[in-house]
Amino acid sequence: MDDQIRAAAEALAGRRNILVFTGAGISTESGIPDFRGPQGVWTRVDPGEFTIDRYLSSAETRRRSWEMRAGSGSLDAKPNRAHRAVTRLWKTGRMVGCVTQNIDGLHQRAGLPGDAVVELHGNVRRTSCLRCGDRMATTEVLERVSGGEEDPHCLSCNGILKTDVVFFGEVLPESAIARAFSMVAEADAVLAIGSTLSVFPAASVPLEVARAGDPLVILNQGPTELDELAAARIERPAGDALPKLVRALR
Ligand SMILES: [Zn+2]
Repeated sequence: MDDQIRAAAEALAGRRNILVFTGAGISTESGIPDFRGPQGVWTRVDPGEFTIDRYLSSAETRRRSWEMRAGSGSLDAKPNRAHRAVTRLWKTGRMVGCVTQNIDGLHQRAGLPGDAVVELHGNVRRTSCLRCGDRMATTEVLERVSGGEEDPHCLSCNGILKTDVVFFGEVLPESAIARAFSMVAEADAVLAIGSTLSVFPAASVPLEVARAGDPLVILNQGPTELDELAAARIERPAGDALPKLVRALR
């Protein structure tokens, strides 16, 4: 075991309510691009084009949005060894839950129960009608897109369809925030994986645990905004380091 993993395991020793916080870096090994990294989607696409206001007012933005979803491959992605390691940690009974910035649903696919996961930015696998609230699988909508509908609307009421994902300019769902902060209140440590911890309010989840005086362990390639508060840091790919860390915690 290397020194970074040993130090992280020591920082988490004896903790019974570890809050796991995850970002894009846990899913890169599953082939999902990191939006904000150096190769990220936002280096090629202007995020200003994908605000909720634009989405609601522009058929062209909706067409581009569905086209990007269809091409992203994120609906076909499979969980990787880092997601599975989080599930193993859950099964040891030492985790209070997992708060994620990711929209890929891969924690649940890796066997983490739905009530143990808080998706702060939503889930791309579901789509809703913004008028009647009808819900459907995103794959159904993408089938209509590949069948030639550029801006598919609700089949019951003709309302605008949108994936259950938080767009730029939208507030985070209140229920998710409430569940995340009830986990924060119970947590006695936080393990932040694959996030630069720079996007707020999401990053206030690990920040509040650290501010309460409990250890913050960061597993990320590259620096994060909360490095100064970290009890330990592992600078390695999540899929490589996390299985070792979880083994060391048992
Ligand atoms: Zn509808």
